Amino acid sequence: MIVMKRVKLLGYEIDTFNFNSAVEHAQELMCNDKVNQVVTINPEMFTTASKDAEFSQLLKDAEMVIPDGIGVKIALKIMGENVDRIAGVDFAREMINRAAEKNMPVALIGAKSEILEKAVSNLQSEVKNLNIVYSHDGYFNNIDEIMNELKNQSPRLILVALGAPKQEKFIYAAKNILNPALMIGVGGSFDVWSGVVQRAPKIYQKMGLEWLYRTIKQPERFKRIFPALPLFMLKVLKYRIGGEKC
Ligand code: UDP
Repeated sequence: MIVMKRVKLLGYEIDTFNFNSAVEHAQELMCNDKVNQVVTINPEMFTTASKDAEFSQLLKDAEMVIPDGIGVKIALKIMGENVDRIAGVDFAREMINRAAEKNMPVALIGAKSEILEKAVSNLQSEVKNLNIVYSHDGYFNNIDEIMNELKNQSPRLILVALGAPKQEKFIYAAKNILNPALMIGVGGSFDVWSGVVQRAPKIYQKMGLEWLYRTIKQPERFKRIFPALPLFMLKVLKYRIGGEKC
């Protein structure tokens, strides 16, 4: 049994595992009798939660909330908590390995169809015994059909790559419908696994500057980060200075 410590940030609880404990804990969730939601949280999601009641609620109900963005790590540091940042793409990839080791079926939902196909084929050749029982691209208007297929195939690991908050809402809706599974919102991970989008070089990852690399490569991401990131930091500082319980 992994001991989890949750800390509060702007009213939401964040799990403060290191990478290995996060994987171990998620593996326990993958084997229990519930649909479990993992959110890999970044500053933009706090902004979304402040405007979107459903998203705010699902963050509170999520079985695991792990700090993905460096912004969340810095915010927690401001609040006096030293936590490891866990890159969602690495975490999800390790969960695929674990599912394969345990012979647990896997499903992938999201991304453009050609990206999804490449990601599925790369994963199948990289991971021994991987059993992908269902995949569907992320540009659909047949959600009921997809839920039915997922229910019939009963994958134990379901990765959803629709971008936030769409993927988190998809998972939240699935909680009342599907058989037990671990469901993770994985953002642009399929793009990376397809080989079409490159990860930032290791030096950027180590320095917590992966966001900068992605923004340079895809300048349209700039408007997602600004003004959300500075506003998020200001809010955290206000909590800290005001001595409010965060
Ligand atoms: N996407 C999708 N359906 C949509 C919107 C987005 O499948 O309606 C996919 C998109 O193709 C990409 C992923 O969701 O593969 C989101 O990637 P993004 O880089 O925005 O996510 P991040 O990692 O920043 O959360």
